[in-house]
Amino acid sequence: MSQGADADDAPADVVPPADGFVVPRFAGISTFARLPLIDQVPHADVAVVGVPFDSGTTFRPGARFGPSAIRQASRLLRPFNPHTGTFPFADHQVVDAGDIACTPFSSDQAVTEIESGMRALLERVPIPIVLGGDHTIALPVLRCLRALVGEPLAVVHFDAHLDTWDTYFGASYTHGTPFRRASEEGLLRRGQCLHVGVRGPLYDIEDLTDDSDLGFRMLSTPFVARIGAEETADAILALVGDAPVYVSIDIDVLDPAFAPGTGTPEPGGMLSRELLAVLRHLRGIRLVGADVVEVSPPYDSSEVTALAAANVAYDLLSLLADPRAGPAYEH
Ligand code: MN
Ligand code: MN
Repeated sequence: MSQGADADDAPADVVPPADGFVVPRFAGISTFARLPLIDQVPHADVAVVGVPFDSGTTFRPGARFGPSAIRQASRLLRPFNPHTGTFPFADHQVVDAGDIACTPFSSDQAVTEIESGMRALLERVPIPIVLGGDHTIALPVLRCLRALVGEPLAVVHFDAHLDTWDTYFGASYTHGTPFRRASEEGLLRRGQCLHVGVRGPLYDIEDLTDDSDLGFRMLSTPFVARIGAEETADAILALVGDAPVYVSIDIDVLDPAFAPGTGTPEPGGMLSRELLAVLRHLRGIRLVGADVVEVSPPYDSSEVTALAAANVAYDLLSLLADPRAGPAYEH
């Protein structure tokens, strides 16, 4: 009954998370899902890495504390994901790579530092799952992955907001601008990027026309609620095809009832159940990296936002693992 006992066709050299039947899940130092640290294993295939930067926020700060809160909330995760029939930590080596340190005083400098830290990480581990931090961090991550993959990326962006604004108070690098900058820099595949879960008031109708002119598609929250999770996932898969995909998840895509601990909450959002269901139906997507951003623990309540983010990251990791034969939960 030890954890991982049913993952016996996993490669023998994979170091799994700490066994919850030996060390209780509330004990020990928090790494994501109690995974080994990157320096504790000879090689790694996937790295969970924190970027504790929140100086790009335009409203509530606090996302600099996101990585540590998500790690703390991830202690309850278990080795087998019966929604997808996968063992996300058994098929290949997943590690916690710690945090990429960057200055809290200059967004321009921080973007450069995050890019440099991510480039160094990608020399050791090809696939990053990034824990933010505010959404500014997606830009340096996209720069590095664009270079690593060697071609522009499709982006599946879950967010209440478009994040394709131009500048704010004169600043080019904010949590509202990463996807406009990424588009301008040629990092994205035009016509194969979309926002999912958009809602709430905008500054002007041009916010929508600008976004569309940049080549983004959009599935609003009401539209997602109407067509359901499975059809939403089908629409995403149809758009991205076999392109390399970066999945970027702003936790404010969830309703504030499910994710109160975030910087710019918008009522009328997706349920945790809906977001997880969409992710679980993205099987087959060519995932080259992902992030979960905008968890602001000072505004959280009973760890509810961090818990949602930890499970979102777990289902992203599950997309990288192969389904096993045997029983699984019904969809
Ligand atoms: Mn947002
Ligand atoms: Mn965002």
